[in-house]
Amino acid sequence: MTGPDQIAERKMQFLFALRSKGVTDARVLGAMEKIDRGPFIRGYFADRAYEDMPLPIACGQTISQPSVVALMTQALKLSPRDKVLEVGTGSGYQAAILSQLARRVYTVDRHKRLVREASEIFRALDLTNITALTADGSFGLPDQAPFDRIIVTAAAEDPPGPLLAQLKIGGIMVVPVGQSDAVQSLIRVTRSADGFDYDELRPVRFVPLVEGLGRDTA
Ligand code: SAH
Repeated sequence: MTGPDQIAERKMQFLFALRSKGVTDARVLGAMEKIDRGPFIRGYFADRAYEDMPLPIACGQTISQPSVVALMTQALKLSPRDKVLEVGTGSGYQAAILSQLARRVYTVDRHKRLVREASEIFRALDLTNITALTADGSFGLPDQAPFDRIIVTAAAEDPPGPLLAQLKIGGIMVVPVGQSDAVQSLIRVTRSADGFDYDELRPVRFVPLVEGLGRDTA
């Protein structure tokens, strides 16, 4: 049995692990404390929700490591007025964290099942400022563009052109770049009136950004 003391202890260790990995933004830490990762992990691995490791989810995908979720969120420098696009809904955990720090979150995944399951959790947790849609996120979400912030949680060989085009001037995009089977680099792209500035943040490892919709869409 897991008692209240054990839960409090796990939570403290979870937040400590985030801080020790460079998560210093109090608002990001607050969102990580508030949103329980447990509901986003179904089945066998549910008891490992509070460990700082990626875990398997449905459709052969993974929920990212919490410290990576937090560091990517921190890198976005969100303001409460922001409209954000996430490419790669997966479990919905990253979108739930974003929903605490932004005005509106659109999240898309190529797998209909993941979008459906994540939407169920958003409803259950009353996270009403998230809209999850099935779409090929390499093309962004033209209907809702432009965005203040864009986060891609699958690795692209280069930042996709349509996503760059859908970023507002002054906007920020965080995207893992590199080949899928190698270590990738997390890149932060900042759009100014003159063009795009690129910052390389840290090595990461993500599943690849894949073109087209998943076969479960039919
Ligand atoms: N952010 C997620 C983890 C994402 S794993 C979380 O918090 O759990 C990467 C996700 O990107 C997978 O679910 C995969 O289906 C999705 N994906 C890959 N290529 C895509 C594309 N072109 N468009 C939309 N989603 C894509």
